[in-house]
Amino acid sequence: MKIAVDQELCSGHGRCYSLAPGVFSPDDDGFCAEAGTEFVVPEELVKQAQLGVGSCPEGAIREIGT
Ligand code: SF4
Repeated sequence: MKIAVDQELCSGHGRCYSLAPGVFSPDDDGFCAEAGTEFVVPEELVKQAQLGVGSCPEGAIREIGT
């Protein structure tokens, strides 16, 4: 699973790193530290990542591949 976090859309709600702390983390201002990046999620964290994707109220996290 590959995901992208849109830096423009991330508003720092913190739901992603609260619900999926193995995949997402906060920066110093409470935004998603992975904002502006694309990365591959290890197989064992895919379920957690999907939870994070579905949790973002801004739609800032997208699955972009496998
Ligand atoms: S849940 Fe969405 S808006 Fe909130 S910190 Fe994560 S990516 Fe940003």
